[in-house]
Amino acid sequence: MRIDGEERLTFCSNDYLGLAADPRLAEAMCAATRHYGVGAGAAHLINGHFLAHQRLEDDLADWLGVDRTRLFSTGYMANLGVVGALVGRGDTVIADRLNHASLVDAVRLSGARLSRYRHNDLDDLEARLSRAKGERLILTDGVFSMDGDVAPLVDLATLAERYDAWLVVDEAHAFGVLGCEGRGSLDAAGVVAGDRVLRVGTLGKAFGTAGAFVAGAAEPLEVILQRARTYLFTTAQPPAIAEASRAALSIVREEDWRRQRLRARIAAFREAIVSLDGLVLMPSNTPIQPLETGTASRAVAMAERLASLGLLVPAIRPPTVPMGGSRLRVTFSAAHEAEDLDRLVSGLRECTILD
Ligand SMILES: *Cc1c(COP(=O)(O)O)cnc(C)c1O
Repeated sequence: MRIDGEERLTFCSNDYLGLAADPRLAEAMCAATRHYGVGAGAAHLINGHFLAHQRLEDDLADWLGVDRTRLFSTGYMANLGVVGALVGRGDTVIADRLNHASLVDAVRLSGARLSRYRHNDLDDLEARLSRAKGERLILTDGVFSMDGDVAPLVDLATLAERYDAWLVVDEAHAFGVLGCEGRGSLDAAGVVAGDRVLRVGTLGKAFGTAGAFVAGAAEPLEVILQRARTYLFTTAQPPAIAEASRAALSIVREEDWRRQRLRARIAAFREAIVSLDGLVLMPSNTPIQPLETGTASRAVAMAERLASLGLLVPAIRPPTVPMGGSRLRVTFSAAHEAEDLDRLVSGLRECTILD
């Protein structure tokens, strides 16, 4: 990136596969813009649903092997819409404490009771599930956005089945990155998603475009169509974005070398950091690789030091993370070269020497 005229090597994007600037996506978007024009003009259920949207929904369903998918304009809105369509007053959502803000807001807006369990703690979850009232919904990130670790999805799916609960997994940081053909964290865990399992994905991260979708069985997807307020009462995303996303999907499926390259960068980074005193890795094998700094001031000082070396790594502090949990949040992309990683590691080494 160039910021105020100065080159910066960034380690803070969610463009995990390096697709956001891919010319094939740009070409698909330009061609579709010439064909459809720019705006969708209305909500999906009025007259904003174009052939491009339908094709993208069908392609996504084919990729994941589900009955149906439904597009939303952003991931934030997809989460609000999906949770609000499935539960309401008198129901209970049992949610991981470290879930993304959009999932927290989704429950608040739905009117359901919010019961938050300790991060990835199955005993706490089951205790809450067994006393929950009304319809039950287990809500979790697949990959946690600030920690990079993965939810215990096999156990979550088992518990959801035992207690006849919905399981909604936010795959924002997992689609495109984990699993066969990038089919996400549930696929990577080997979970065969039943009719009560729904997956939400965003297109603005590994797909390099914008928008989001929910995937699942025909019946809940019909309920979402009828009831999700963030689907009904907002303008559909531009059809050209849907066409760019279709181009992205075929690359996500076919170009496995991008995931291999990403995994190689992650492994090399972790190996390099282990040998540096004073830097603490968190247990993550995903492109989100936070380094614990303890205090917020240490996180800021290190981020400033890295910035002076031309490296952009964000310092994440409360309230985004809990008190005492400040960190540098490094994220990797298949677009990073091996030399980029070397520059980051030597920058971090300099930070520890100055500590
Ligand atoms: C980014 C993100 C979202 C929101 O997606 P947008 O398409 O950017 O609105 C939702 N959930 C998680 C876990 C995210 O990281």
